[in-house]
Amino acid sequence: MQLLSPCYRHVDMTCIRIEGIAKRFGSTAAVDGVDIEIHAGELFFLLGPSGCGKTTLLRMIAGFIEPSAGRISFDDADVTVLPPNKRNTGMVFQSYALWPHMTVAENVAYGLRVRKVDAATRKQRVAAALESVQMGEYAQRKPNQLSGGQQQRVALARALVVEPQVLLLDEPLSNLDAKLRLEMRQEIRRLCKSTGITTVYVTHDQEEALSMADRMAVLKSGKLQQLGPPQELYNQPRTRFVAEFLGETNLIPATISGRDGDQVRLETAVGEVSAKLPGGDVPEGGNVTCSIRPESFRLDPTPEASVVSGEVKDIVFLGDSTQAVVGFSGGHTVRTVSLNQGQRPSPGDQTRLHVDPQDIVILSD
Ligand code: ATP
Repeated sequence: MQLLSPCYRHVDMTCIRIEGIAKRFGSTAAVDGVDIEIHAGELFFLLGPSGCGKTTLLRMIAGFIEPSAGRISFDDADVTVLPPNKRNTGMVFQSYALWPHMTVAENVAYGLRVRKVDAATRKQRVAAALESVQMGEYAQRKPNQLSGGQQQRVALARALVVEPQVLLLDEPLSNLDAKLRLEMRQEIRRLCKSTGITTVYVTHDQEEALSMADRMAVLKSGKLQQLGPPQELYNQPRTRFVAEFLGETNLIPATISGRDGDQVRLETAVGEVSAKLPGGDVPEGGNVTCSIRPESFRLDPTPEASVVSGEVKDIVFLGDSTQAVVGFSGGHTVRTVSLNQGQRPSPGDQTRLHVDPQDIVILSD
């Protein structure tokens, strides 16, 4: 994608502060006391299952929904009860919401007309916005003459042309096919980073969030579960919910049997292992659940790895990798995944699995 014209470079980046925000619809607490600070210029994701409150939170940032409690500010300006048209945000909806009777150029120009921008400037800014999403040559088409991906680009250009302080994206890729979704992920990220616009992106697709976000917040039942960069949330989930929501994991019951420097020893349902000492209390003899990702079980040993032995129960060949289900003497099973290099195990084989202490996460609930 080509670089944006200088008029789309935002030097004044905006920080969004969400403090104690809540929204009730009757007896439903859609958002329940959320505190988040979104850094200036950040591509920030709100992630969670259907009904967790992410769209309600985005709509409160946009000004379409008034909070029941709490405060939202853009830099030092309190915008909690400011109407949407006074907030200088650009929004892209799941459905694109383009006007069907207007051309692409007219759709993109709409926000500038409302703001009474003169015709010559309008023309120049519409052309630059369409170029920035590689849609310059489609300016005179109507939306129904475009593919889904092209309509999505127009929706982005329309949001960006008004030079918003904040860009808000509500499941923007969910109507596209899988291949186009992958392409658009990269484009949206590049667009956000090259403009420097603080962007809040709502999705229930954890892969989209993990691959695009600077930082992300996982919500459940209107409450913030965990906030941080993708790698931190994936590798160090604090709760069972976050561990399971962000990709596949093995949840294994365990008892803390001792402490050894910066590690704890665990008696688990698959054998004895050592894990990195978690923050907080680790009462000896306490029952915990630990999370081990399928790719963390490896066939090759490392000096610090723990070893557990089991029997291969099932094998699924996935082209570049193989999934195995491994059973242990007490009846517990785990899933493993490994790249297809060298010899693959077969059902009935005894196998030794190695797992490093830092790949075993002791969950807080
Ligand atoms: P989805 O991914 O399905 O869009 P979401 O995480 O965006 O879900 P919200 O749309 O924010 O969730 O809804 C959160 C909760 O608030 C849900 O229980 C929903 O039914 C409820 N809710 C949302 N809007 C309203 C409304 N206008 N009136 C009543 N309840 C609402």
